[in-house]
Amino acid sequence: MELLELKKIMQENGIVGCGGAGFPSYAKLDNGIDTIIVNCAECEPLLRLHRQLMERKASEVLKTVDLIRQTIGAKQVIIALKTAYVKAIQALESQIDNYSSISIKKLKEVYPAGDEVVLVYETIGRVVGPGKLPKSVNCVIYNVETIYNVYNALHNIPVTHKYVTVGGEVKNSQTFYVPIGTPFKDLVDMCGGETVEDYVYLVGGPMMGTIEHEFNHVTKTTNAVIILPHDHYVIMRKRANPKLDLRKAMSACCQCSYCTDMCPRHLLGHPIDPANFMRVVSNQDSINVEPYLNSFYCSGCGLCEMYSCGQGLAPRTLLDVFKKSLRKDGLVPPKIENECKPIENRELRRVPLKRLRARLDLEKYNKSAPIVDTKVNPKQVKIRLSGNIDKPGEILVKVGDHVNENDLIIKHANNMLSVNLHASISGIVTEISKRHITIESK
Ligand code: SF4
Ligand code: SF4
Repeated sequence: MELLELKKIMQENGIVGCGGAGFPSYAKLDNGIDTIIVNCAECEPLLRLHRQLMERKASEVLKTVDLIRQTIGAKQVIIALKTAYVKAIQALESQIDNYSSISIKKLKEVYPAGDEVVLVYETIGRVVGPGKLPKSVNCVIYNVETIYNVYNALHNIPVTHKYVTVGGEVKNSQTFYVPIGTPFKDLVDMCGGETVEDYVYLVGGPMMGTIEHEFNHVTKTTNAVIILPHDHYVIMRKRANPKLDLRKAMSACCQCSYCTDMCPRHLLGHPIDPANFMRVVSNQDSINVEPYLNSFYCSGCGLCEMYSCGQGLAPRTLLDVFKKSLRKDGLVPPKIENECKPIENRELRRVPLKRLRARLDLEKYNKSAPIVDTKVNPKQVKIRLSGNIDKPGEILVKVGDHVNENDLIIKHANNMLSVNLHASISGIVTEISKRHITIESK
């Protein structure tokens, strides 16, 4: 297959990264890439999606990623997953001998193993520079579900559904394949409902996820919905108030540097130093601007404030406030051309997932959440017009139109990052707003 043809298939079938920022997948492909990494590391605690999908769809994933490899002329494919994912490894090992260019990399149970920059280093030993993409070291990363979506696209099935793990304070933790736009609440009800009275919906994972309303909807990047008690440690940390956090930092940061010592990006040699940032921000130092500018290089993984800081301070939250205000003022990350060198003893400073779960008080929620084949039939879906990065194209439907599942409802824009969007259920279009198209099942 030609590269342009593959890119067209991916764009027209609406494929974006199934998690994280949801970067349009076609735009990652290039001829200069020598390595494709399949991310099956399942970065966040409690998530169960990619390893189970690999157990079920190893054959489809291997076949598809090898086709992508041949199309872009890459030398190798590496499937990166944790040693503990025994069943997924078995599923791969039963077929991998048919593919001489594909190998498996078994990773330790540490956080954040699935962070792209960390994953590239752990898998092939190359350091992606600060603010750069894996492409800069001739590498591209796709997660398991994204590759499965490419498999479907090659069989003329567009992206209309998403695998979502539902866990935490629910009767039965489960993973569903649901129409995009399904309300979170429908999924929780299918798990037997919430098991605490005062609950909070955490979407995306305990470390990097966000608190959302129970009637919000599944998007192309929703990996998990975790229900937690309103006074749970994770929720209290997520409800941080930056003004208060700044005052706490001024009075309580003892400059122990634990936040820096365990920062995954700092450990790879990136110029991010949360302890130094906390020092300048607490002292309102306006002469030394570098630590503020370096906030651009924080990945937002949350280790510094959810795990490392014994004083309960919030470096990530404050870094994020600065990052956003610098962006608003039109600043861009400073260019760093020097090669980054990982810190000595980096391996010893990685955070074991088990200890992270214990610190976050999540061990009791660390249960299996099997993929169930129950068909999810929401009465209504609200489909976002575009993701975080891609731009919406031309809307092809109007209120009152009848659509069938898989029908094209938005045609991608030209000359910008944009992908097609398809109806996830059959029904009537009842609303088109600036952000969503609503379809009611009939
Ligand atoms: S770990 Fe906490 S107290 Fe120590 S330097 Fe970092 S923010 Fe300050
Ligand atoms: S959130 Fe904290 S630990 Fe993570 S990259 Fe940013 S500064 Fe480092």
